[in-house]
Amino acid sequence: MMEFLKQLNLGASNAGASTGQQWLADDSAEQLAIHSPVNGELIAKVSLCTQAQYQQVIEQAQQAFVAWRQVTAPQRGEIVRQIGQALRDYKQPLGELVSYEMGKSLQEGLGEVQEMIDICDFAVGLSRQLCGSTMHSERPLHRMYDQYHPLGIVGVVSAFNFPVAVWSWNAMIAAVCGNVTVWKPSEKTPLTAIACQHILKDILARNNLPEGVFSLVVGTGAEIGESMLDDKRIPLMSVTGSTRVGRHAGQKVAARFGKSILELGGNNAIIITPNADLKVAIPGVAFGAVGTAGQRCTTTRRVIVHESVYDKVKDALVGAYGKLRIGNPLDQNNHVGPLIDKASVQAFSAALDKVQAEGGKLLCGGEVLSGEGYASGCYVKPAIVEAENHFQMVQEETFAPILYLIKYSGDLQQAIDLQNDVAQGLSSAIFTQNMLEAEQFLAHWGSDCGIANVNIGTSGAEIGGAFGGEKETGGGRESGSDAWKAYMRRQTNTINYSTALPLAQGIKFDL
Ligand code: NAD
Repeated sequence: MMEFLKQLNLGASNAGASTGQQWLADDSAEQLAIHSPVNGELIAKVSLCTQAQYQQVIEQAQQAFVAWRQVTAPQRGEIVRQIGQALRDYKQPLGELVSYEMGKSLQEGLGEVQEMIDICDFAVGLSRQLCGSTMHSERPLHRMYDQYHPLGIVGVVSAFNFPVAVWSWNAMIAAVCGNVTVWKPSEKTPLTAIACQHILKDILARNNLPEGVFSLVVGTGAEIGESMLDDKRIPLMSVTGSTRVGRHAGQKVAARFGKSILELGGNNAIIITPNADLKVAIPGVAFGAVGTAGQRCTTTRRVIVHESVYDKVKDALVGAYGKLRIGNPLDQNNHVGPLIDKASVQAFSAALDKVQAEGGKLLCGGEVLSGEGYASGCYVKPAIVEAENHFQMVQEETFAPILYLIKYSGDLQQAIDLQNDVAQGLSSAIFTQNMLEAEQFLAHWGSDCGIANVNIGTSGAEIGGAFGGEKETGGGRESGSDAWKAYMRRQTNTINYSTALPLAQGIKFDL
């Protein structure tokens, strides 16, 4: 990985933006220091994109769009195929850098790069499948169909916790659809984004692609993020982040009649019924709650357990948490790595204080770790708290490993109602071996989330399905299934191949 970092030549550049192969440098640009949450060390300093560079990037992207949309969709797919191949070649160092910069386990870092490879494969196939429908016209000798055209520039604002996969979900699908992408990564994790841009460089050169098909702007939300939200030249903004930021972004983009894909916070629950196989359910809950140190949008935050199995589940979970190994995420023996920064650690501790003040009972964990191996100050012991669903802290997403254990004593509908009784609607799951319960959970009066699983936890989605959630999660869908349609504009076409002009609805208009 260190070799890979050297190849990126970060120290030598003052570039806060790139239009593809070209990096835009400005010696007077503000610098951002990036420290690893793994050990607190300074990894690199990167320049922030200036307003002048931003303007240059957008103008270049506009020009690139004019050329890129003329490339046929399968040829665009061929470029994405080459990107997928390059990601295979760089999977190990890029996965390590994701782990080192963001703090997730190496397995998850490599898994994130695998997701990028998977979405490239998906997008290659999709490049021959951007299908519209044909309809029968009510008028004789008329043909009707709909088709999908590219939009132009797609702005991608991504969160720190999936520093590269979210970009690829957007950029690869957008690319085969004929769009160009301008990516603003989280200012907490710009190095992995810079690495991706370097990986693309050779492919862009080899294929003689114009500057501006894939662009990068390293900036803060308040500065470059805001510029993108306001920019009428960006017809689609895809924003992944907190509900607070997404609410603001959605309103701003809507005010200029732009389109947006919003992928925001979750408050995901697992229901364990008396018919659950606990051998499957307990690891499902534990992985969902502590994986990525509770920093996934799909992290399991609540487990809603029937009273008949409540004590058993409680004891098993506390036992499982006792076995967790917390430490350097690049060491594959560890289960849990650090939080992204000290502010997240403070939010974790504050949430635990508040929920206990509301009447919650801390069952285990909650400590901030110090001493050898924990020098960054970002390591915490995942916590389990007995709580009630209506507590204010339970209603909120704290982006850290806190699992709320909630009891239900009525029928399954009571558990489903508790699960749905939060503002967010991303991921949900039920553990049961009873088919009637599983189907009730999936029925339209069941889970109100964008993702509903049976006998699988809430986290760890595959790219083949459309990913996203309802309510304050924002309603956006990305990745697989027909999520590509959000990256295109639909046009309905009616063609008259007769020698008359019959009107719809039988309207007569004789001159
Ligand atoms: P965040 O909201 O702090 O930041 C997300 C991105 O928004 C960053 O790139 C940031 O720079 C940018 N931003 C901030 N203010 C902005 C503004 N005024 N204008 C434009 N952009 C702005 O989120 P985070 O801490 O990086 O990530 C954690 C959050 O993201 C959690 O709430 C998590 O649930 C959510 N998330 C959701 C999904 C999903 O698919 N639903 C996926 C990953 C993360």
